[in-house]
Amino acid sequence: MPTDFCPCQSGRPYAECCGPRHDGSRPAETAEALMRARYSAYARGDLAYVARTWAPRTRPDDLAPQPDLTWRRLEVLDVVDGGPDATQGRVTFAAHYRVGADRGTLREHSRFERVAGVWYYVDGC
Ligand SMILES: [Zn+2]
Repeated sequence: MPTDFCPCQSGRPYAECCGPRHDGSRPAETAEALMRARYSAYARGDLAYVARTWAPRTRPDDLAPQPDLTWRRLEVLDVVDGGPDATQGRVTFAAHYRVGADRGTLREHSRFERVAGVWYYVDGC
């Protein structure tokens, strides 16, 4: 039986990786875990998860899906802070995508914060 590997490239099955983040049974403990879960949510088209893990003050009003865009691969390049007891963290990543016949890479330094024990994405540059 083929294993449904997680889109975040952890090498683990989705059901043991970002799946429990998405269904709320095991919220992300670290900034990196949230980063991976948000990438997987984008890859699976779960924009509701993307929205609810976005800090309210920076969350866009409208998260529109891009039906012709496919997320292909995630590389987490650097993690600063963001541990289970931290209140802030930063994750640098490269996310590879395809739009039609074109391929591209989004590189971002993302900032995360933990409020009342819950990690949120703040912004990126
Ligand atoms: Zn995952």
